[in-house]
Amino acid sequence: GAKAAATASDERRAEGRARGPFDGIPYALKDSIVARELPATCGSRILENFVSPYDSTVATRLREAGAILVGKTNLDEFAMGSSNEHSAFGAASNPWDESRVPGGSSGGSCVAVAAGMAPLAFGSETGGSVRLPASYCGVVGVKPTYGRVSRYGLVAFGSSLDQIGPVTRDVAGAAAALAAVAGLDPCDATSADAPVPDWGTAVEEGRDGLQGLRVGVVRDFLGDGVDAGVRERVDAAVMDLGRQGAEIVEVELANVRYAVAAYYVVASAEASANLARFDGARYGRRAEDVADLEEMYTKSRSEGFGDEVKRRIMIGTFALSAGYYDAYYGRAMRARRLIQRDYERAFQSADVLISPVAPTPAFPLGERMAEPLAMYLTDAMTIPANLAGVPAISVPAGDADGLPVGLQIQAPHFREDQLFRAAAAHETAVGPAPVPA
Ligand code: GLN
Repeated sequence: GAKAAATASDERRAEGRARGPFDGIPYALKDSIVARELPATCGSRILENFVSPYDSTVATRLREAGAILVGKTNLDEFAMGSSNEHSAFGAASNPWDESRVPGGSSGGSCVAVAAGMAPLAFGSETGGSVRLPASYCGVVGVKPTYGRVSRYGLVAFGSSLDQIGPVTRDVAGAAAALAAVAGLDPCDATSADAPVPDWGTAVEEGRDGLQGLRVGVVRDFLGDGVDAGVRERVDAAVMDLGRQGAEIVEVELANVRYAVAAYYVVASAEASANLARFDGARYGRRAEDVADLEEMYTKSRSEGFGDEVKRRIMIGTFALSAGYYDAYYGRAMRARRLIQRDYERAFQSADVLISPVAPTPAFPLGERMAEPLAMYLTDAMTIPANLAGVPAISVPAGDADGLPVGLQIQAPHFREDQLFRAAAAHETAVGPAPVPA
């Protein structure tokens, strides 16, 4: 299919009918985003043999732009995880050090771009799943404003959080790729009717400096537990942005300390409802040798889902159950609101916020598998943006002992222009991201 599409693209180019900058560009797609007549396993046994009958809106828009889908990429099962290790088909490894995780859940998409398998890939975020692996693999990853990109054809995890975003080698590529897929879609009621500006202009502006831009350093993300090498790269980035004309201020997001706890209640609650559709009857795997319908459901789900997915379904079902709803889901939603207010306040004194993406660089494969809480805490700095719905980006900021470190930039709702401007300035200061040997 890819070869046929490439031949058709070559013909269009030869005839001067190229469809634009993406005509003929190969790209990879996280395996929880569907494309017509291709598998969409979601990294799960339950969808092992599922083939999608339709295109996601992202795949449709890229197809219309002439881009060529060259592969589906590995993920933690149903995007639940931070390391890629929860995939039913095994983890991808980090191209900078194969004994380490690539990050998750969109690890495969980031590995594909970092290792040069494709210049462009798409992943999805519910709580950091594009930015985290982008930072671990040394590539650019964007989590757009909630609603910026249609979720139609993205297998739902936490519907109030889910968002698709691009992975690229550089900031200009990310800005162009986001523009190619963003915008209102009648197939997704949560997609926003907001104009999609030309973010290339913001990238150009950033290369010329940051006069007039207020950069807020998030104090709460630079406390204990941040690796010394990570802190050094972020401090250096802040100095560089200051030298390029930005005004550096300090900001506080006091309630982000509740973010991980709130997220794992809200996301799991939504997941427990969303994953009810995988019942052995409608999609994918169906258990055999069963006595009745009840047993067919139970056996199909017991055999089809991995441990992490079962853990989320149980947490979510518990959090939503009668008598516990207020104590867990209700409180988590109140914490979410407090975090949103923190952002509103911070964006009164800063145009963008700067921090690490994660407390440490990529960790060794296996290190956090026995301890779900240690795995969840990997997301402490990325999850707040998902809870607040604001856009955020991870851009390469150098390395700590040979492992890539990502700089996180966050902006107010629908101000991706500010993200790209600041990210382009940072990229100009640190130079092009290196490629693994
Ligand atoms: N690591 C987080 C989780 O396991 C986020 C995953 C995501 O963003 N899809 O839920």
